[in-house]
Amino acid sequence: MKISSPQIPNFVELRRPAVPDTVCDLCERGADVPAMWLPDDGLAAWARELFIEGSNQGALLPFWNEDYAHLKLARIGFLWTNVECGEGGGKVRAGQAEIPKPRTGNAWAKSRVTFQMAQWFGVVPDFVITLCGPLVNALSDMAFCALVEHELKHCGQARDEMGEPKYTEDGEPKWCIEPHTVEEHSSVTARYGAWDDSLKELVASLDRNHELVALFDEWGNWKGGKR
Ligand SMILES: [Zn+2]
Repeated sequence: MKISSPQIPNFVELRRPAVPDTVCDLCERGADVPAMWLPDDGLAAWARELFIEGSNQGALLPFWNEDYAHLKLARIGFLWTNVECGEGGGKVRAGQAEIPKPRTGNAWAKSRVTFQMAQWFGVVPDFVITLCGPLVNALSDMAFCALVEHELKHCGQARDEMGEPKYTEDGEPKWCIEPHTVEEHSSVTARYGAWDDSLKELVASLDRNHELVALFDEWGNWKGGKR
């Protein structure tokens, strides 16, 4: 049987979702802007189509990433906020992926989170990805895609000692938050170079062809679809 290769279209549309107006002004400590939290089904559908399914009449193939094959079964809720979240060292958090099931707290604390998730997403999702609206607004199209992929990459399926994917007793994938591939300070690599395997992997990845970069201009903005 002949298997035909997927059709790569000569026109690709990015259709980057806009940051909703209500989460565009940063809610900083001491500022007068109220805190906002806003679920976004459109953003969730966009991210799924672009990176996980890779198929919208075959038009989104360049962004598809087989690393997310397990996420076809995952319910992922996307949430915008305008609340500033400091990460220390003057850095602020642009995004975060979580499993929205609190392990600590009493029955009320756990039930409150479950209730809120169901209000936002209809069901309690397997993962929630939160993005900071004001920070995302300042990102180029390329940086936005990379940020969304960064958070999707945190949405993992647990594996056993043999490296096989784990499932719950009900046969559902056992979800986990994947740590970063690399945890290091640039001041240490400046002195010791790529001193462990994770750093060597990072250096090797910087030498690859970065096929998506060609789809954006020098400022990281979407070129308009011509491939
Ligand atoms: Zn991260």
